[in-house]
Amino acid sequence: MRIECIAIGSELLSTGRLDTNSVWITERLGRLGLSIHRKTAIGDDPEDLRTLFREAIHRSELVICTGGLGPTFDDLTKETWAEVFGAELVEDAQIREDILAFYAARERVPPESNFKQALVPVGASILRNPFGTAPAICWDSPRGYPGRRIILLPGVPLEMKQIWEGQVEALLAPHAKAAVHSLRMVVGSVPESALDERTRPMREQHGDLEWTILAGVSHVELVARGADLARLDAARKDFEQELGQDLVCVGEGSIESTVLGLLQARGETLGVAESVTGGFISTKLVSVPGASRALLGDAITYSAGAKTQLAGVPEELLLVHGTVSDATTRAMAEGIRAHLGATWGLATTGNAGPSEDGRGPGPVGTIHIALAGPDGTYSIRYSFPGFRSDIQSRAAAWALDFLRRRLI
Ligand code: AMP
Ligand code: MG
Repeated sequence: MRIECIAIGSELLSTGRLDTNSVWITERLGRLGLSIHRKTAIGDDPEDLRTLFREAIHRSELVICTGGLGPTFDDLTKETWAEVFGAELVEDAQIREDILAFYAARERVPPESNFKQALVPVGASILRNPFGTAPAICWDSPRGYPGRRIILLPGVPLEMKQIWEGQVEALLAPHAKAAVHSLRMVVGSVPESALDERTRPMREQHGDLEWTILAGVSHVELVARGADLARLDAARKDFEQELGQDLVCVGEGSIESTVLGLLQARGETLGVAESVTGGFISTKLVSVPGASRALLGDAITYSAGAKTQLAGVPEELLLVHGTVSDATTRAMAEGIRAHLGATWGLATTGNAGPSEDGRGPGPVGTIHIALAGPDGTYSIRYSFPGFRSDIQSRAAAWALDFLRRRLI
């Protein structure tokens, strides 16, 4: 079955809002063994919508739209589809009741414009919306297109998901194929190209699976997809062996959740002193629920003075080595560890750019990471490419991975 997804709303064409609905729908279709062959994000322009809808119903057996079902003048999805098929819109008594009840529960009266949502194209059926006033619509074999189906869902993600789970999934169940499962493996501090080269023979060995390498700023993911769980499990075992200490986690998870898990399992704690990463490390850590069980604190020691006051770096050391140096970063790690009484002290310094500082904190992209622990202090220097926030985010992830490697 050829399926396409259309995300409707002018806001999706600006920088303010991302089309997350079609990503979610794609994942849900995947569980049914179905995939989409095309997706579009389009604004609320009636002429553009008409053109796209005509093309979509021509080439696809199932067209799933989200958005444009609201009560305002720019919500035109239903109206435009009705126009494409020359269908009349008729008020549905049940939906009028639902809208009245929705407002009554909030001790309000609906504005007249809301009843636009009770209009349903003749020949289509409604899927009631338990969380809002816009019902979804399922339209089978519209005039001129026997065997084709259109599903119109509200744009509000929560409402869309609720209707999908409660009603759309059952409509699609008869078309389900073998579900596709995926195996996600995250590696830390390994560049994408190195991972590609290193895993090629093993990916070829498991060539019955579909492989993707997804490179982000913080980590690289190796993803395998296949219908056979036993095959995926065999691949997991082989890759666990091949990747060894580079493997951060399998399945859900991230470098930060793995690090916190390892610290907790060992009953150990962490203190952080960040200069170049300015809070990126703790932002990653505190995004994980329960982070406080291992993370004691983070000092953002951006200036030389703060490095001395908060992380106990001797002034003389700063004068001799400068703020961006191996010696200073090591002193920060040791200082914050002592200050907070933590098992581990982690620190970063560097130059995230965009300009090089005359006072000498190294070329743009220079990053120093230091880790002080029960068995001494370790440090490393990197040179990262990219823009300022990429360099900072990568430095934070690689610092956490530096700690992870020491913990295992
Ligand atoms: P609408 O149904 O067009 O009135 O959309 C209602 C709201 O849902 C919009 O203001 C957006 O905030 C959100 N929304 C619409 N389409 C999407 C989408 N494709 N992905 C994520 N959010 C969306
Ligand atoms: Mg809209």
